[in-house]
Amino acid sequence: AELISQIAAGEVVERPASVVRELVDNAVDAGATQVTVRLVSGGVRSIVVEDDGHGIDESELALALRRHATSKIASLDDLEGVATMGFRGEALAAIASVAELAIASRPAQAAHAVRLDARSGELTPVARGTGTSIEVRELFFSTPARRKFLKSDATELAHCVDAVRRHALVRPDVGFAVWSDGRLVQRWPRGDAAARVRDVLGDAFIATSRELAALPAGAGTGHLQLRVSGRAGEPAAAKAHGDHQYVYVNGRFVRDKLIAHAVRSAYDDVLHGARQPAYLLFIEIAPERVDVNVHPTKVEVRFRDSREVHQAVRRAVEQALGNARF
Ligand code: ADP
Ligand code: MG
Repeated sequence: AELISQIAAGEVVERPASVVRELVDNAVDAGATQVTVRLVSGGVRSIVVEDDGHGIDESELALALRRHATSKIASLDDLEGVATMGFRGEALAAIASVAELAIASRPAQAAHAVRLDARSGELTPVARGTGTSIEVRELFFSTPARRKFLKSDATELAHCVDAVRRHALVRPDVGFAVWSDGRLVQRWPRGDAAARVRDVLGDAFIATSRELAALPAGAGTGHLQLRVSGRAGEPAAAKAHGDHQYVYVNGRFVRDKLIAHAVRSAYDDVLHGARQPAYLLFIEIAPERVDVNVHPTKVEVRFRDSREVHQAVRRAVEQALGNARF
């Protein structure tokens, strides 16, 4: 059973950043307004994610670590309208099978926090405010073959910060901080959406990108209930943009070939031979028209009407670029 769970964990946990992603997902799902990530050696030695969310009751701490245990959906039918980042109940179990894991949590009504050590199963009272801290140490300690694939601490740190950045772009209502080896390396305070995008992507990107106008209703996307918003960078300024390519579907960061292709096509149409475009896209679509349960990391999605989605995204980006004055 140990081996099987370690193999399964490989699909969820590839590197420290995958752990950060899952833990921040959970913090956000718990309604946190502030999430703090503390890393040691790029997260390889230690990752701690602290939140001020609703916490986990002492009686449910052990359950949180069990495979396929989720408090977020009750049945398969709920999957269609899933509003939380998590729903598979796999992350904590997977992480605990390839690292030392401990959870300390305190629900609002509890007199104190309780810490559960995953390995020993020991429960101890600890001091902390309402919320949850999850500590993950010595990632891949028992699977040296996997550990070997990790890059330098600096590279792993950069991936961890990226993972937090992806959350930060879509959740301006949550404050994020990242500490590395005791130093604050990134801080995104709570604020409005525009301020957050500026904070994360920088003044240069804002100055040289165009806002996507929401497509008018009935533009062929009515039945999809599809809305595209965000920003598209002016191709001429690509050099100043770095590697900003962010796509969110219903608030979830995704990597999607179809959408990337649609964006690319729009750039090719408007300005031939453009460099790699920078963009930030938020796609809102009726939940029954997209399947988010394609892959354990949920970074892939499948659209029911892929052609229409492609068209709508392409048109939205073209419109933004066409309105720009190059
Ligand atoms: P999922 O997020 O898919 O439900 P996880 O393995 O990530 O699965 O987490 C298992 C369960 O542990 C969650 O359903 C939730 O009940 C609980 N949990 C995990 N992290 C937190 C947190 N930071 N705050 C509150 N509850 C949490
Ligand atoms: Mg989760």
